[in-house]
Amino acid sequence: MKRTGMTRSLDSLGRIVIPIEIRANMGIEINELLVFYADIETGFIGLEKYSNGNSCKLCNAIQDLSYFKGSLLCKQCILNMKGNVGVTSTPVPAVKENPVYKKHKAHRPTLQLLKSLRELMREHPEAKQSEYAEWLGVSQSRISQIKKLL
Ligand SMILES: [Zn+2]
Repeated sequence: MKRTGMTRSLDSLGRIVIPIEIRANMGIEINELLVFYADIETGFIGLEKYSNGNSCKLCNAIQDLSYFKGSLLCKQCILNMKGNVGVTSTPVPAVKENPVYKKHKAHRPTLQLLKSLRELMREHPEAKQSEYAEWLGVSQSRISQIKKLL
């Protein structure tokens, strides 16, 4: 464990933003479950991915786990294997993506960001553009781009 030098303050609702650099380095996704560690004597608070070493090797589920031939697997994956669900003798060929679908996919995050930004601006009208960018995990230029759409 090392000191990152990054600091964040707790907001009025007790929330804190985990810097994007840390999330990216540690593979922490939005909505991921995290576990708190606290040492009252030293005043140290830590966070760990709940799934660390505790998730299904196939689907990353964290519930109903058991060991199968030395690997942690979830009940659903074990049932799927028993029932031969998703079993193919050769790798499934990569499907070429339909360009129309691709275009649609690229637009969705913008709409989601737009919605999230609108909510954040309502909750924290005084915040700086850089703060919105950090809260949403995107660049400042993306925020100014999206702000034009509001
Ligand atoms: Zn699984």
